[in-house]
Amino acid sequence: MLDIGPLPSDLQDVVDFHGHLCPGLLIGYRAAKAAAEHLNLGASRDEELVAVVENNSCSVDAFQAMLSTTFGKGNLIFHDHGKQVFTVIDRDHERAVRVSFVGDKLKHAGPDGKTDREAFARDLLNAPTEQVVKVEEVSPEPPAEAVIEPSVKCDRCGEPTQASRTVQVGERILCKPCAERQAK
Ligand SMILES: [Zn+2]
Ligand SMILES: [Zn+2]
Repeated sequence: MLDIGPLPSDLQDVVDFHGHLCPGLLIGYRAAKAAAEHLNLGASRDEELVAVVENNSCSVDAFQAMLSTTFGKGNLIFHDHGKQVFTVIDRDHERAVRVSFVGDKLKHAGPDGKTDREAFARDLLNAPTEQVVKVEEVSPEPPAEAVIEPSVKCDRCGEPTQASRTVQVGERILCKPCAERQAK
């Protein structure tokens, strides 16, 4: 666990949610804060927000904790691009902001030649916004609403499965795990 001294209370909430303090979480914290500021979200979080995140690492938990854009609610969309890029869409006001991490320069090598994670974390917390993230207004393209679709029973395990996620193997309709097992 990194120790960089007392944390701001909004960051402490994010750390409690995530389980530890780490550089990735701080990237998400600064990015989510920058997005909220840019969109003038204020303290109340009942806005119709959607976050489109381009990685599935620690940083995303800051968006879940701070903006209440969560995987379960369907207003957290994951694109597997391996990039610290986050787009937050405010559907009520038809605005969107794209926030990308630009703070690689904040990394310093410690005495052992590896990144000094504590120094990096401290800089991620305290550096001016423009040294941590780039913030751009973009046109909002809300993702399609989730469609409620009927389930079908997998012909192998019998578990109800969203129809669009099933695979036809010969005569049988299978869930993905069963189809993969069958292929082996
Ligand atoms: Zn982490
Ligand atoms: Zn199955």
